[in-house]
Amino acid sequence: MKFASLGSGSEGNALLISTTSSMTDTTVMLDCGFNIKETERRLLRLGMAPGDLDGIVVTHEHQDHVGGALKFARRHRLPVWMSYGTYQAVRKDCDGVAFHFCRDGEALNIGHLELIPFTVPHDAREPVQYVISDDRFKLGVLTDAGQSTPHLTRSLSGCDALVLECNHDREMLANSAYPASLRNRIGGAYGHLSNDTTAEILASLDRSRLKIVIGAHLSQQNNTPELARAALCSVVEHETARVVIACQAEGFGWINIEG
Ligand SMILES: [Zn+2]
Ligand SMILES: [Zn+2]
Repeated sequence: MKFASLGSGSEGNALLISTTSSMTDTTVMLDCGFNIKETERRLLRLGMAPGDLDGIVVTHEHQDHVGGALKFARRHRLPVWMSYGTYQAVRKDCDGVAFHFCRDGEALNIGHLELIPFTVPHDAREPVQYVISDDRFKLGVLTDAGQSTPHLTRSLSGCDALVLECNHDREMLANSAYPASLRNRIGGAYGHLSNDTTAEILASLDRSRLKIVIGAHLSQQNNTPELARAALCSVVEHETARVVIACQAEGFGWINIEG
């Protein structure tokens, strides 16, 4: 299994997950927060064309995740998966798109990938995040959550690779120029994960198979790649897992899960 990001942060997110089995490739795009042209440009940078994709899976209705998904799906005739709650929020844009519903805990199979959604506390209608497996490896993805829950730590335990939100540094957010209402929303129980909270989540997981952890969805105002990296490294510094930080402009290139 390999994965790559087209970009990560509040201006747009899209993650590619790909596997090869019996000579056929399966590639899924998780979220698409970029417009059609920008998505095509970023795919090309990763050596991909829209026709290489088997479908788009949307985590929730916020624009940085769904912004380009339905238009891109319509243009390139790709099926879309989302929760019923997310569908309720975006249904006016769903005409002409083949979509399927997903539900917490119910695996969906796209080609040779299995995706299991799990619900997260976030201020959207029915937000889910995903654990994605092929026949060898398991990738856990968690962005856009306000706090840890037993359900999400159970879901993410035992993964080979993790993409974890490191949205903000608590002190930088507290001292930011954001209005109090926005600071409270971001830092609240249904907002976004701080570096510290994500480090606590990572520390609580079964990491016996973990080979790589990505810090993702960093705020460009209230975090730095160095702070996010330090938080994740503080947990895995005596372990073999590698730490990578995703960025808004470039995401990150293909990472092969091996071993
Ligand atoms: Zn987001
Ligand atoms: Zn969100």
